[in-house]
Amino acid sequence: MTKYVYSFGGGAAEGGADMRALLGGKGANLAEMSRLGLPVPPGFTVTTEVCAAFHEGAGAYPDGLADQAAEALRAVEREAGARFGDPDNPLLLSVRSGARASMPGMLDTVLNLGLNDATAEGLARRSGDPRFAGDSYRRFIQMFGDVVLGVDHGAFEEILERRKEARGAELDTELDAEDWRAVADAYREKIREAAGAPFPQDPERQLWAAIGAVFGSWRNKRAETWRRLNGIPDDWGTAVTVQAMVFGNMGDDCASGVAFTRDPSTGARAAFGEFLPNTQGEDVVAGIRTPKPLESLEAAMPEAWAALTGAMARLEAHYRDMQDVEFTVQRGRLYVLQTRAGKRTAAAALKIAVDMVDEGLIDRREAIRRIDPEALEGLLHPALDPAAERRVIARGLAASPGAASGRLALTADEAEARARAGESVILARTETSPEDIHGMHAAAGVVTARGGMTSHAAVVARGMGRPCVSGAGALKIDVAAGTLSAGDAVLSEGDVVTIDGGTGEVMLGAVPTVRPELGEDFGRLMGWADEARVLRVRTNAETPAEARAARAFGAEGIGLCRTEHMFFDDDRIPAIRRTIMAEGAEERRAALAEILPMQRRDFAELFEIMAGLPVTVRLLDPPLHEFLPRGRAELADMARATGKPEAEVERRAAQLREINPMLGHRGCRLGLTYPEIYEMQARAAFEAALEAERETGAAPALEIMIPLAATGRELALLGDRIAAVAKAVAAERGAAPKYLLGTMVELPRACLRAGDLARTAQFFSFGTNDLTQTAFGISRDDSSRFLDRYAELGVLARDPFVTLDADGVGELVAIAVERGRRARADIKLGICGEHGGDPESIAFCHRAGLDYVSCSPYRVPVARLAAARAAWPGRRLVLAF
Ligand code: PEP
Ligand code: MG
Repeated sequence: MTKYVYSFGGGAAEGGADMRALLGGKGANLAEMSRLGLPVPPGFTVTTEVCAAFHEGAGAYPDGLADQAAEALRAVEREAGARFGDPDNPLLLSVRSGARASMPGMLDTVLNLGLNDATAEGLARRSGDPRFAGDSYRRFIQMFGDVVLGVDHGAFEEILERRKEARGAELDTELDAEDWRAVADAYREKIREAAGAPFPQDPERQLWAAIGAVFGSWRNKRAETWRRLNGIPDDWGTAVTVQAMVFGNMGDDCASGVAFTRDPSTGARAAFGEFLPNTQGEDVVAGIRTPKPLESLEAAMPEAWAALTGAMARLEAHYRDMQDVEFTVQRGRLYVLQTRAGKRTAAAALKIAVDMVDEGLIDRREAIRRIDPEALEGLLHPALDPAAERRVIARGLAASPGAASGRLALTADEAEARARAGESVILARTETSPEDIHGMHAAAGVVTARGGMTSHAAVVARGMGRPCVSGAGALKIDVAAGTLSAGDAVLSEGDVVTIDGGTGEVMLGAVPTVRPELGEDFGRLMGWADEARVLRVRTNAETPAEARAARAFGAEGIGLCRTEHMFFDDDRIPAIRRTIMAEGAEERRAALAEILPMQRRDFAELFEIMAGLPVTVRLLDPPLHEFLPRGRAELADMARATGKPEAEVERRAAQLREINPMLGHRGCRLGLTYPEIYEMQARAAFEAALEAERETGAAPALEIMIPLAATGRELALLGDRIAAVAKAVAAERGAAPKYLLGTMVELPRACLRAGDLARTAQFFSFGTNDLTQTAFGISRDDSSRFLDRYAELGVLARDPFVTLDADGVGELVAIAVERGRRARADIKLGICGEHGGDPESIAFCHRAGLDYVSCSPYRVPVARLAAARAAWPGRRLVLAF
């Protein structure tokens, strides 16, 4: 018989931390904590396999489940000393989801299950606290009504508000037992009316309905969105954990809270968290009341504090990672309800990983494994300029660091719409809920009026790496009116604000930023990554500023210098335009001669910054019409600059226009039809290289790269021309320039005929932007219109322009690697498409046996780390076709 139910707590400890796939994170860790002898309320976990069966069987459960659950429930009853449904001594249960990967707040939970009219009375008698019993009962009815029966929770809120108004009460705590009884009656009435059936009094029925609802919530929209954003497979399913309730709301010697073993914002080695006296746990996370800092628990409940800090130390040492612990104090006694690896900011992740290596808890490899390369980029981005003027309109908690400016959006949908239109957005909400996930993802930053450091907004924003200010109480948000006010300031949706998630400030307008200092921890971790990786990491850079930034981030050369970017400067465009307008090679050469010294200076600067590291100069790639004027005024300017009549300029512009320029007269096709352009560029590079060699005594590692080749013949012809330029320069200067000649591999035919290309090319650089475009036949400029839909439909789970399509485009790369190497054993292989900075694509590049990746400057540290992580499985694929 398959085992569907695993018990924990008290004497039982079935399963353990290594069984996440079957028991979910929560169930696995509860089992592990029972093994460690920590105070865990007894319970049992129904496996993720049952979730799969439930969905496949349209809500049916596998045979044997009911018996196994009944037996486990009896064990819980024995352990807790109470009986499920017993009016004299009722056992109450929590029913919680627990997926393999953390999905905070996305799935459903039901608390206080087992209460009905009779057991609520029993609970009142037994606890001697009718107020507490009444409050628990109405909470249960509300949660059950909302989660299981689908009754809008606003309806319950309204009933509660009405009661509070009638009683002149501000806070829930001002209501008494009689109030709660009346509220519970009204809630049940509401359920009868809205759900068309009475609230079920039978605890067994309640239990199975709640388990079904939790399994069902795996397929709700917000959970699906979360899975898509986080790459969690749909077929994992959730486990359901059923556990004896303990109560943080039985009086002033009770509390519930959340504690981190280290500070999740900074990584500092000190317990951090929050609690609320006399509440149930959901209140802390929901951000409804502003909680107290954890440290104050020491004075309020010293014994519980001692037990908690002991449990936290134990858990951190056991898991060798920072833990996020949920706890309840019931009548002075501590219970641990849950532990998991705590979400943390990139800065905290870095500090914790490096500290834990120093503390001997983990090794360097594990430290690297724990840092998400993608998150690292956040550390490199600018923070607010401390000298800049700030008009602070509100202050809240510094919930997730980083600064962001953007236009205000007051709903998640609005945030998404504005982001889609290309705006940077700050999402402002009174508090966020899982329904807001898509808006938080679209926003550059999030601010909430309510909630603490462990509120939904704070936790989710930290996980996403979005700056967040939470609990900025001065903000009044009126969604209907579309306004946000703080004191005298009244802003509307679309107005620009800035938030600083490192200080908790909310400011008017856009505030300037400065580049952050990278600390010692960063340098140490990067050093470990460099020792581990096999791939070299270069940068795509044209300007000296980019090249310098990339060097500071550890780039080992330039893998792509897109020379056309150098031609758009105001002082060059007239000469470029004269080149385009030229009648014949002579005139073209004369115009190009004006550009030569500027281009030489460009290269000289890059050689100097890169100090002997490789510099790959790609010869002109885009179609010429990109340099042509747009509009009448520019046309007239061009006529003046080139000394040609306007009509002729217009005629030439029309001549150059192409139906499909991406597949038109560009790349090496230009080089072959207008050889003077490449000759000028090669000469500039050679002359600059010789000058650098004379000055420094060492020749720069110059690589000349030809774009968009599809055939060996193209390269052979252009290779000869470039060699002729080298020879001419050598004759003039008395020294031969040293260089490698290579090509972009960015067309499917180039991959298939890589052997032909490698006869001339000494290196390949995979231009996976164009290769993806041409392999799929999807325009890289127009794909956004349908790729979202494609992701939803599961046609292309990931945007292939972001993460390399390993199956198709990757196979082309692998073919080219194999055929290129066969033709030239020492050929150098790299990638310079955007994928060169994407961790998953970098892992592919490692497996495919490339020598280097090249990416934008800010991605360089990301790539160094990703390359180290990719290197650990140890093997490279042997790809053969
Ligand atoms: C590429 O195609 O991948 C590439 C790097 O070149 P570009 O983006 O300039 O076309
Ligand atoms: Mg390209």
